[in-house]
Amino acid sequence: MTKSLDELDKEASGCTRCRLASGRTQVVFGVGNPDADVMFIGEGPGYHEDKQGEPFVGAAGQLLTRLLGEIGLRREDVYIANTVKCRPPGNRDPLPDELESCRPWLEGQLENIQPRVVVTLGNFATRVILDKPVSISRVRGQRFMVGGRTVIPTFHPAAVLHGGGESGSQMTALRSDFQTIRQIVAEPVPMAAVPQEQLGLF
Ligand code: URA
Repeated sequence: MTKSLDELDKEASGCTRCRLASGRTQVVFGVGNPDADVMFIGEGPGYHEDKQGEPFVGAAGQLLTRLLGEIGLRREDVYIANTVKCRPPGNRDPLPDELESCRPWLEGQLENIQPRVVVTLGNFATRVILDKPVSISRVRGQRFMVGGRTVIPTFHPAAVLHGGGESGSQMTALRSDFQTIRQIVAEPVPMAAVPQEQLGLF
């Protein structure tokens, strides 16, 4: 039987599957609505996330929270997680074996939450979810279907802040991708995607 989100969270808190375990303050599993329609996946915890145990609480997180607000969503409405649950030293990129070691936690989260829409933030999350070595600047804003879910890759908010900032072209693209998310969330759920219990058949 699939483990619950709480069980996975508890198990992950003692994870030693890769070298990132030795440098973390704590595992940053994920936060938000366990029944969310939309799940956001970032890269990995940074300094503030490692200290607080919650994803996207630093500057990039503040931008993410603001962008959610612009499309009428609160952090509590969605689920937010990362491809790796422990902070890479000095915020370096996660290594391929670290992404692989952490993948089962992410898969467990997807299995539990069953989001209709998955938004991948930046190259790493996009490559993990699409399982292809794509470049975010080529695929952002497009819709992909993976395992019956809509996947929308977009720029990582931290890359936008480090790039042209709030007035740059990446910010315009990020805002436009959030409008796409808003539209998809507003679309009626196809009947095939409604769990049988909700149709009142059981
Ligand atoms: N960047 C990420 O990818 N994830 C976080 O949780 C914070 C910053």
